[in-house]
Amino acid sequence: MRNVLMVVSGPSGVGKGTLVKKLCSIRSDVVESVSCTTREPRDGEKHGREYYFISKDEFFARIASDDFLEYDEHFGSYYGTPKSFVKEQLESKSVILEIDVIGGLNARKAFPDSVLVMIAPPSKEILQARLSGRNTESKKEIEDRLSRLEFELEKGAEYDYTVVNDDLSVALQELGNILDNEKNK
Ligand code: 5GP
Repeated sequence: MRNVLMVVSGPSGVGKGTLVKKLCSIRSDVVESVSCTTREPRDGEKHGREYYFISKDEFFARIASDDFLEYDEHFGSYYGTPKSFVKEQLESKSVILEIDVIGGLNARKAFPDSVLVMIAPPSKEILQARLSGRNTESKKEIEDRLSRLEFELEKGAEYDYTVVNDDLSVALQELGNILDNEKNK
């Protein structure tokens, strides 16, 4: 059995956060990496749980000290995966990165054995309804996120697996099976 670095990507609103959190809550052999971001926290988000919310100055200082496994800019804010956390955790557990497709492909360059999983919505309309329903982004932010959908799914062709998140419990089961298969390789 090996510990796996699993990247989970997918468009905003597809439910990847919920899936990853559920998987990590029911299994003790996998942990989620918490990224750093320079964006403002949304209602209900907590420093150290969803993200480490840091200033641009701190973010750039951490780039300079090679602290990120990968980082990228989205919608005017920066997001990065802390390298030390991932490396430490991988000694005893599998680690999930919930990041965008470019970040995922970059993570594979840094860790060639990583496993890339794309979470896809059943349809664009369903994704739009989910994004509007969660009431955490402005109309403009929703449009920005939707316009990235095609790009994310296209890039997903380079991923190892695709899981369609129609029924949450089915998608959760699939994600867990992928992890088990990969751990046993
Ligand atoms: P949101 O602001 O909706 O939480 O995230 C915006 C985008 O940033 C999403 O596509 C999310 O997957 C991506 N993201 C979150 N953390 C990271 C990270 O550490 N690295 C990269 N490259 N993207 C990230």
